[in-house]
Amino acid sequence: MKKFTCKEIMNGEGGCDMVFEGVELMDVAGQCGNHIAGTNDDLHKSMRDMMTAEHTEEEKKEWFEWFQGEWDKKDEG
Ligand SMILES: [Zn+2]
Repeated sequence: MKKFTCKEIMNGEGGCDMVFEGVELMDVAGQCGNHIAGTNDDLHKSMRDMMTAEHTEEEKKEWFEWFQGEWDKKDEG
């Protein structure tokens, strides 16, 4: 089980202190995605824009590679 805060998932560029936890990276990313999709404030704007804009497969891959790195660095707990 790993825990990430909204801020961590947004790489410190906004976000809040809400915590998402799960065993699978995709599970945590999905929980955060649902949370971000339900916001309409400036704190979450950069991630919301990233999620709603059109993206190439390459851009999506880059984001998941970044998050995978953060995921791997994080201790279980
Ligand atoms: Zn948040």
